[in-house]
Order: sequence, then structure tokens, then C-alpha cells
Amino acid sequence: MSIRNKHKFTKMRKFRDLFKWKAEYPVPEENMEISTPTVVEHKVHVTYNKATKSFEGIPNAWKSSIEKALSKDELESNPEAALSVKFYHYSIKKKILDFKPWQLLKLLKRKVAIDHVFENGKDLAGGIDSLAITGEPSEGANSSASAEDSDTYEVCKNSTDQVDRAQNEVKESPVQVRRKPGTKMSNEEVMEKLREICSPIKAESVYEKDSEIGEIGSGASGTVFVAKEKATGRKVAVKDIDLEKQPKKELILTEIQVMKELQHENLVNFLDVFLQENHLWVVMELLDGGPLTDVVTETVMKETQIAAVCYHTLQGINYLHKNGVIHRDIKSDNVLLGKDGSVKVTDFGFCANISGDEKRQTMVGTPYWMAPEVVNRKQYGKKVDIWSLGIMAIEMIDGEPPYLNETPLRALYLIASTGKPNVSSWDKLSPEFQDFLNKCLEVDMEKRASSEELLTHTFLSKRISTTTLKPLIEAAHNILKKKITQ
Ligand code: ATP
Ligand code: MG
Repeated sequence: MSIRNKHKFTKMRKFRDLFKWKAEYPVPEENMEISTPTVVEHKVHVTYNKATKSFEGIPNAWKSSIEKALSKDELESNPEAALSVKFYHYSIKKKILDFKPWQLLKLLKRKVAIDHVFENGKDLAGGIDSLAITGEPSEGANSSASAEDSDTYEVCKNSTDQVDRAQNEVKESPVQVRRKPGTKMSNEEVMEKLREICSPIKAESVYEKDSEIGEIGSGASGTVFVAKEKATGRKVAVKDIDLEKQPKKELILTEIQVMKELQHENLVNFLDVFLQENHLWVVMELLDGGPLTDVVTETVMKETQIAAVCYHTLQGINYLHKNGVIHRDIKSDNVLLGKDGSVKVTDFGFCANISGDEKRQTMVGTPYWMAPEVVNRKQYGKKVDIWSLGIMAIEMIDGEPPYLNETPLRALYLIASTGKPNVSSWDKLSPEFQDFLNKCLEVDMEKRASSEELLTHTFLSKRISTTTLKPLIEAAHNILKKKITQ
């Protein structure tokens, strides 16, 4: 027993002697540990000097990126919003040449996902808490610096104690943080967990690649191809993840765990997972209509169809929320359609587990769809998904989310400073739809509707069958010259 623990132990005994009349107090047999510091902050005091119209105390790299993105007037009219977005340092790291035409469009206009996020020395991306010993870059930090070729877009948030690492100004942490069990998993631990959940048989004995259709897309973690279940002939989608190329394997683990545990008709359901050498094959149901993005960018949807998509997406979100999961990346790219018109939510890598009304404070998601409380670094909860659903409804009206033509940093500033965004054809919308949007895009998250409340909204009762989406899906595919699976 360490001296520190002996000390505590003796004190406890003396204390117990005062209460001899009580039943014998159990003597702890295990060593006691002093708990680890939980919220370690290195404060950077930043002020806005109205006379010089600039920030003081802000690291130079931030200053120049904010001043490039925002005008002096914008800085002056809303310095708080500018200060909120200063935490985001942004870079694109995808090899453009590897893209097919429709993917290139996505690259240029849409897909900007946060890869990893740091908060108070914790890497919280995907809701997996991990403790980074500041002074030593964490695994995430390494990956951000070196993954030139990785298929990731990265928005690395430099929170109060990461600022210094980014600036290389502080070499040592003021506090040594003890690693707790259940916090950051090592690579080997993640691999061990993956091995545990993988099917023990060989993927090839159950599925064969559909060589005619082949690859249907690629994302940060790998490629997705179509395969056939040998026994039934059923077509499935397989995400092929090269684990060696994955700097953040725990995001993949989150994605698989969420998919495996939660099954609902409005979620893309998990079927199986195999580990072959260093490749993970995640088998899921095939949504052969592609992402909702194709439909919103290429076709005009009727309100009754928008109501149908909102209703089914909301069913999926409500199921996640009831199971204590926030999706945190709701957007049209993450709503997949079946050719029959079925609507399913996918992409669970950023999910966070919460209980009840527990709140989080990490910036995770895709800038244009982010709720103001996320951008403003306030505590947030499940209702961030409702805000993003509102933005997705705007995509269904306008073909794109607000501020898409702005850089992500400016978009974040506009979200933080404008609140509810403008909808170009607002006056043409029915009062029910306007009210639905108002309930989703309410800046005050306490007043914003919950998924349960929204499901009973009158706008959703205007929905028609999702089979009416079929012609839109076909039209979008023809325009985008995408292969449609047979
Ligand atoms: P991210 O890496 O941020 O998730 P992503 O969603 O584009 O980006 P993937 O999830 O790997 O990346 O998906 C790649 C492509 O495959 C996407 O265009 C997606 O629409 C398509 N896709 C993914 N899952 C399925 C599925 N179950 N059925 C049909 N298509 C799918
Ligand atoms: Mg995805």
C-alpha cells in the first residue's frame, strides 16, 4: 500500500471508531486512488479591442485566419461569434484526382466533416472520451499532421489547451493527467474489440463481390461496394476499411457498435462484420437509391414529399434519442434512399452516447448543418439533431444548406451570429411547413422541439408515400450518370 493510501486508511479507521455502535464498516481491501483531474483548462484570455478593431491575446495563426474570413465590420458587429469560430482550424486533405465526377462535386461543395476534436485535453470525436497528455501530441494530433494523403477532411478544433500545441508555444503541460480505464483506448485495445465483434468465418464463404456494379462510393474510412449473399442472392453494401490507413480506429468501432446494437426501419441496418488481415468488411443493407443529396441537388421536391422524408428521418432520430444516442451529423448525405423510396439514416461514426438530458460540449458535425449551440461551444444535447434536420429540410427546398457558398469558417460565424437562417422561398411555403421549420430552427434549444414532439407536428401529417420519391431518384441518377444497382 502506498504511503498516500496508508494515510487515508488510518484516517478512516479513526473516523470509524467514533461510530462503534454502528455495524462494522467494511475495510477497503483494494488500494485507493486519488481520482484524476477531470476538467483541465489552460485559459487563453482573448479580448476584442474596439479602437484597433482587432483581437488581443489571440495566437497569430488564428488571428490571420479569422481576419481573412471575416470583414472588419463583421468582427466589430459580433466579436463574440467571431471568437466562437476562432477555434476552428480547417484543412482539406483529399486527393482530388482519385474522384469520380459526382464525388468531385461532393468534395467541392458538400463534404466537410470534422475528423477529430479536442476539448480540455480530451479527444472527444465520436463521443469516445480519451485523455491526451498535453505536451505530447495525441494520436489524433499526429494523424492531423501527417495524413496528407488520407481520405479525410479535417476541422481540428483547437480548444483552450490545444491552442498551445497548435502554436507550439507551450512545451509542457501544467498538469499530468492520469489515464483512466475506459477512457482512450490504445490501438491494440480497439483492434481487440474489433476482433471480438467480427464474425469468425471468412467473408468470402458468405458473400461475393458484385463485379458488375462494383464500387458505389468512397468516404473517409474506405470504399463501399455491392456484394451478393451467396445463399440468398440478396444484394448488400460492404464498406471495406483498410485499418492500416485509419488514424482513428475508435470512430469505426463506434460506428459498428451503434449499427450493431440499434436496428430500426429508418436506420441503415448492420448485417455482419468481418476482419480479413487488416481490412474490415462492414456488411449492411444496400440502399440502392443513393443519398438524399442526389435528389435535393438535382430535383425539386414537393412539400408532401419533404414531409415524408422528414417524418421517416425523424423516426430514425427519435429511435436513436430514445436509446441515448445523438447522431450529430444529420444531413442529406447521411440519409440514404432505397430505390423503392425507403428513407434511412446512416453514418454513425460521430454518434455520442448520452443518458437522459446529459449535455456535451464538443464541436462535432459538418459546419453548415451545425446548431448554434455547437458552434458557440455551449452545452448541447439531442436537439442538435433537430436543428440539423431543419437545415436538411432547407436542402430539400433550396437544394443546398444555408451558407454553402461561404467557407466553413465564415459559415460558422454566420450560424453563430444570424441564428435562424433565411429561406429564399419562405413565403411560398405552407404555414404548417413554416411552423415546422421554426420549431426545428429555434435558436434557444430549450424551446426547440424534441423528436417526440415533432413527430406529431401537423406538417408531417401532410406526408405522402415515400414510393413517390422513385421518379426523383431515377431522374437524379440519370443526371448524375450514376450506376443504378439492378
Ligand atoms: P464519411 O467518410 O464522412 O462517412 P461518406 O458517407 O461519403 O463519408 P461512406 O460512409 O464510406 O463515406 O460511404 C461512401 C459512399 O457509399 C457514400 O456515397 C454513400 O452514399 C455510399 N453508401 C454508404 N453506405 C451505403 C449503403 N448501405 N447502401 C448504399 N450506398 C451506401
Ligand atoms: Mg458515410
